[in-house]
Amino acid sequence: MQIAFIGLGNMGAPMAANLAAAGHTVTGFDTAGTTAQGVTNADTVEAAVASAEVVITMLPNGAILRAVADQVIPAMQAGATLVDCSTVDVDSACAVAAQATEAGLLAVDAPVSGGVGGAAGGTLTFMAGGSAQAFAVAEPLFDIMGQKAVHCGESGAGQAAKICNNMILGVTMIATCEAFALADKLGLDRQKMFDVVSTSSGYSWTMNAYTPAPGVGATSPADNGYQPGFAAELMLKDLRLSQQAAESADADTPMGQLASALYEQFVETEGGKGMDFSTMLPRFEKRGRGA
Ligand code: NAD
Repeated sequence: MQIAFIGLGNMGAPMAANLAAAGHTVTGFDTAGTTAQGVTNADTVEAAVASAEVVITMLPNGAILRAVADQVIPAMQAGATLVDCSTVDVDSACAVAAQATEAGLLAVDAPVSGGVGGAAGGTLTFMAGGSAQAFAVAEPLFDIMGQKAVHCGESGAGQAAKICNNMILGVTMIATCEAFALADKLGLDRQKMFDVVSTSSGYSWTMNAYTPAPGVGATSPADNGYQPGFAAELMLKDLRLSQQAAESADADTPMGQLASALYEQFVETEGGKGMDFSTMLPRFEKRGRGA
């Protein structure tokens, strides 16, 4: 298949390389001039997409996606498919899909879970929104770049699933970290705390698979000086998207709202930028009820 890949960053480059390694012809474009193994870069974004059957975008945010869509949609061949794998706001995802459909293209919003390791290993999870016809075109490519693809519904449904999942993740990480910090102050050994909670009703992915305490439970960024992993500022991005969506849908999300405020404080004023999102544990460790 002729594929164009726009946005060859930390996630996009290994995803594009996996498509090329599987035998597809991949033409890339990134404003930073980055490239990927097996991918031939084009000089302009329009040249990259001109003969592509599928155009994949992996970009930082919704505003950039909208700007790139304005350039690529008129340059794509009729009947081609636009697959956006970025994490963006639901409104941008729906607007770009509508613009593509109007231009006679198929469109899928397909954000991913699994991080840079999943992108490199081809083990991402894709959550997709769009027509059944558009999903059918993209699915074989999801199978190369990932281990699971769920067709969640119409346009925007992929982004909706992603931000709901990550709102649970942010809230749960905070709850797990504050519980560890409380256990410390109550004189409870962290290993014992893990042994109990990981097999009791407080268990969660953050406790069992991504344990935020060094030397306890699953091997995680906590065992590597809290280097990401999944950076706190990316968690903040997703929590903000969840709150933007909650506002536009009039949904009451007090825990998501508080998690967003806590990660904002952590990233913007407490040195959390560049640290893994589980660094909430050393943050809570240092604090009392006053501050
Ligand atoms: P990144 O910043 O490493 O990559 C984005 C790339 O887009 C950069 O190389 C940048 O130069 C390029 N770009 C920006 N504007 C462009 C334009 N107009 N035209 C072409 N290229 C342009 O980010 P990333 O970590 O690869 O993340 C990409 C997306 O995936 C984001 O939406 C992010 O939220 C999401 N995501 C990231 C992770 C992760 O762990 N990094 C996990 C899941 C989802």
